Amino acid sequence: MLEANLELVRRGLVLYTFGNASGISREKGLVVIKPSGVPYEKLRTEDMVVTDLNGKIIESGLRPSSDLPTHLVLYRAFSAIGGVVHTHSEHATAWAQARKPIPCLGTTHADYFYGAIPVTPELSEEEVAGDYEKNTGDVIVRTFQGTDPLSVPAVLVANHAPFTWGKDVASAAHNAVVLESVARMAWMTFGIEQQAACVSQALHDKHYLRKHGSAAYYGQKKQH
Ligand SMILES: [Zn+2]
Repeated sequence: MLEANLELVRRGLVLYTFGNASGISREKGLVVIKPSGVPYEKLRTEDMVVTDLNGKIIESGLRPSSDLPTHLVLYRAFSAIGGVVHTHSEHATAWAQARKPIPCLGTTHADYFYGAIPVTPELSEEEVAGDYEKNTGDVIVRTFQGTDPLSVPAVLVANHAPFTWGKDVASAAHNAVVLESVARMAWMTFGIEQQAACVSQALHDKHYLRKHGSAAYYGQKKQH
C-alpha cells in the first residue's frame, strides 16, 4: 500500500498531498487507505488507515483520505477489483476537464484498456451538495453499467480527475501511470492530426487479447 502511494510520486502523478491509493482484503473485508493530508515523504506504513467496507475505522489514529467513500462504492460494486487509485495527473485530468473520453488511438492504450476511457456525466447540484464523495463513486458505477470494470480499469470523472483500479493496489497504480501516458500521447496525437482515427477493432483485439483473457500469450507464463 505504501509502495503504491510512493509509486504515484515517483512517476510524477501527484503534487503535494493530492491523490490516494487503497487496497482491499476481500477475505477479511478490510480496506487500507492513505491518511488524509499527510505529505508523501512523511508517509509510514503505520500511518495507513484500515476500515471496513462501510468506512468504519478499524485501525489508525489518523483520518482516512477524504475520498474513502468513493473507493468504498467502487469496492462494493466492482467485486473483482482489489485496489483503487485516484490522482490529478495533469494530462488525464485535462481530458476529464474537457469532459472528453480518451479514444483508443494506438496499441499502448489497446494493451491496457479494451475501449475508450469513459468520462462520467456531471454531478448534479444536489449530488455535489450532498454526499459528494459517495455520489462520485455512484456516478462512476453508473458509467460502467454493462462494462466489465477490469476490461477498462480507468475513468475520468467530469471536471475532476481520473480514478483507476486493478486486481490489486500495485496494478491500480500501474494503470494510473499508463493512463497518464496514454492521455498525454492522445493529446499530442490530436495536436499533430485533428482527424486522428481510432485503432481498428482488429488491432485493438490483437493487443488487448494477447495480454488478457484465456488466449493471452504476452510475457512469461504465469505461475498462478
Ligand atoms: Zn480528486
